Amino acid sequence: MKAFRCGDVVPGCSREFTGADRHEILAQVAEHARTDHHVEVDASLVQAVEANLRER
Ligand SMILES: [Zn+2]
Repeated sequence: MKAFRCGDVVPGCSREFTGADRHEILAQVAEHARTDHHVEVDASLVQAVEANLRER
């Protein structure tokens, strides 16, 4: 399993995501970014997420 903590990229956000692989994480993050942070996922956001993925 992989995990991503949104607070590693967006200070103050406490959402965490877990998924089988980076695609599952990115799908959840894209949804969260759009609804809660009002940003669209772009290449630099994907890069930031991947840089902060943890093994779980
Ligand atoms: Zn967030």
